[in-house]
Amino acid sequence: MTQSLAVAILGASGRMGRALIEATLRNSALRLAAAIARDDSAALGVDAGALIGRPVCGIAITADRPAALASAAVLVDFTQPAVALAALADCVATGKAIVIGTTGFNAAQKEEIAAAARVIPICMAANYSIGVNVCLKLSEIAAQLLGSNYDIEIIEAHHRHKVDAPSGTALALGEAVAGALGIDLRSNAVYSREGQIGARVAGTIGFATVRGGDVIGEHSVLFLGDGERVEISHKASSRGNFAVGALRAAQWLASQPPGLYSMRDVLGLNG
Ligand code: NAD
Repeated sequence: MTQSLAVAILGASGRMGRALIEATLRNSALRLAAAIARDDSAALGVDAGALIGRPVCGIAITADRPAALASAAVLVDFTQPAVALAALADCVATGKAIVIGTTGFNAAQKEEIAAAARVIPICMAANYSIGVNVCLKLSEIAAQLLGSNYDIEIIEAHHRHKVDAPSGTALALGEAVAGALGIDLRSNAVYSREGQIGARVAGTIGFATVRGGDVIGEHSVLFLGDGERVEISHKASSRGNFAVGALRAAQWLASQPPGLYSMRDVLGLNG
């Protein structure tokens, strides 16, 4: 019988943390080894199963990250950049693999993650949804086939609590289409428009952000041509899809050598 993979969840009492507890407890190939919350969390000491309205599972929410990490093979992090980087340092020190779900890292923080990937296996994805990753591939193919005669706009919507914009997924979609067109996203992206902005500059990639309510995550890539428009859209209807994807990444990552991997690697969508 194959042994189940011991998973620790960082940010366990958060929106994604709860979805991850649920998905881990439902997956017989996984074992919830630890569920970690911040040291002032009201959830400390509460059974992780009970926290999400399931039967008691015997794992109490803890703030003791080193002990939690010692009990797991892979850490799954959905918190915030500073917390993720502190956990990353722990993973490097102990040789544990980490699935990073947190978004909103700056360039220096991304370099830190890339450096850590020389020592441990890391999977980092702006979006762990399997459907979104298929959309990334489809957007790349559409950009290649439609070429630069089509104007590209990326629209995303998220709940009112999201703190970064555009979403990491919108940026990843932008990188995918820019890469396919052989252009640099940073010098061609237009993140906001207001006032007398003039006609659209050819070759730019526009972004629009919607924030409000409880929208889990919606992304559309629009290819706007003369007399037609192609839209590639994804709408998440629950956080379960991110959790299932992140856990699939954890299972895949557990047998990989050190390196920085994406969901495309996990799903075999490269190439
Ligand atoms: P959230 O605010 O509901 O959850 C974050 C949790 O982290 C909170 O419970 C918070 O208390 C906890 N936390 C903060 N400091 C901590 C610490 N030191 N130790 C342990 N826990 C700590 O947010 P969320 O909606 O669950 O999203 C979390 C992150 O995941 C965000 O960056 C979000 O953008 C990202 N996200 C990524 C994906 C993806 O597929 N990559 C999907 C959804 C959300």
